[in-house]
Amino acid sequence: MMSTVLEISCHIAGRRIPGSGDALSSINPANGETLATGNAAAMPEIEQAIEAAREARRSWMAMSAAERGRVLARVAAILRERRDDLARLEVLDTGKPIQEAPAADIDSAADCFEFFAGLTQIVQGEHIPFGDDGFAYTRREPLGICAGIGAWNYPIQIASWKTAPALAAGNAMLFKPSEVTPLTALELGRIVEEAGAPPGLLSILPGGRETGEILSTHPAIAKISVTGSVPTGKAVMASAAGTLKHVTMELGGKSALLVFADADLDDAVSAAMLANFYTQGEICTNGTRVFVERPVCEAFLEKAKARAEAIRIGDPLDPETQMGPLIHAQHLDKVMKFVENGVREGARLVTGGKRLTDGDFAKGNFMQPTIFADVLDQMTICMQEIFGPVMSVLPFESEEEALRRANDTPFGLAAGVMTRDISRAHRVAAKLEAGVVWVNHYNLTPIPMPFGGSKMSGLGRENGLAALDFYTERKSVYVNLGGVESPY
Ligand code: NAD
Repeated sequence: MMSTVLEISCHIAGRRIPGSGDALSSINPANGETLATGNAAAMPEIEQAIEAAREARRSWMAMSAAERGRVLARVAAILRERRDDLARLEVLDTGKPIQEAPAADIDSAADCFEFFAGLTQIVQGEHIPFGDDGFAYTRREPLGICAGIGAWNYPIQIASWKTAPALAAGNAMLFKPSEVTPLTALELGRIVEEAGAPPGLLSILPGGRETGEILSTHPAIAKISVTGSVPTGKAVMASAAGTLKHVTMELGGKSALLVFADADLDDAVSAAMLANFYTQGEICTNGTRVFVERPVCEAFLEKAKARAEAIRIGDPLDPETQMGPLIHAQHLDKVMKFVENGVREGARLVTGGKRLTDGDFAKGNFMQPTIFADVLDQMTICMQEIFGPVMSVLPFESEEEALRRANDTPFGLAAGVMTRDISRAHRVAAKLEAGVVWVNHYNLTPIPMPFGGSKMSGLGRENGLAALDFYTERKSVYVNLGGVESPY
């Protein structure tokens, strides 16, 4: 447990500056203890951060691309050195199990800085020849000062997935972590400077919606990248329209996992478990609609039930714990309402569905991993994002039917297909309306693979070479080699 209450302040150009906005606090979801308190960043701090970012970008761009790459590589190295401490802090702030945080959060952040460290020297343009008349070339220019807004489920990972490509492309970043999980992003702000980035290149501005609104409307900010729910994405995009900012939107989902009868059933169950119960089910890409081909549906449910009931729920800092508490009490209430709705609308509760309130559980936001069968496409649990450990299983008869139903949603973040038929795997992957499709696995997000959603789940891509496109713009330079003919 934390012995002292930490301070939430802004990190701007190497200094900790108290915010002048609303009060903020970070609460440990496992026991309700206050981890940190402070105030949100408001306009004065954001103006300071913008001034610092302008200054820092000048120094950053005065460094060679190779030097900039070495700084980002050092960020990765420091993240790895402090892996255990950072993972512990992330666990305290989010409630995710310590079994997950070192690899899924800290390593992912480090991998991301390492990947983009190697790309600073290939932010290159094209050459377009026009015969003897001349040629054009394009320059890939940074956008300037970018802002990032994060969700609470993967705080340091989200901060890194936005900051590393932004910096690699020559931008500065103003990052606003979620108001409920600001702690590891503040550490990242310090680490980036410790690694040699000019102070101010990355500012961390804790706060809630108001802080986010200032960032999305401020004329000095060229781009905004938000990870959050669809309503937040729409609000940010509308705010950003006033100054025509570039936008990247990483939003919610209601993704489908298709299990065909020819799949290895144990692997299919494993994929469904990862797709629903990792990080307490608080993952945007989760495959919460599990379509299972009818002949194997009951066998699938039997195995999934046994595996869900064996999940060890408890103190997220205990290395044996496999599932921690949900992020906060209001979120637990919301998830429990979905469960009640599922029962009321006639879905079959196969396992789970209860809060855990005995003993130490009473202090935190714990619930059982939950599986519903006989779910219909029109049920609330099947249409809306729950963002908790609730799996819906739906039988299907044919590939065509499964695809039609899987795609019958306004979301388009991710999907999965479990089959041993290689032709079917690729046919289905091509037809699923989603930004990411996993074949015979679920929820793997290696950094070289572009990540993002389609339809209402998002715009733009993070990670991979693709991310650089969203942190640069092309300038075309036309070069004339002949004389200038003019009719005038
Ligand atoms: P949220 O939408 O409530 O908040 C996200 C962030 O936006 C927070 O930092 C919040 O302070 C800020 N915000 C809220 N309203 C704003 C506004 N009007 N203007 C500017 N900023 C505003 O989401 P959450 O509850 O923190 O996270 C859960 C959601 O995030 C889920 O829908 C989940 O699917 C989504 N998510 C998506 C991805 C992805 O990569 N696609 C990853 C993680 C989470």
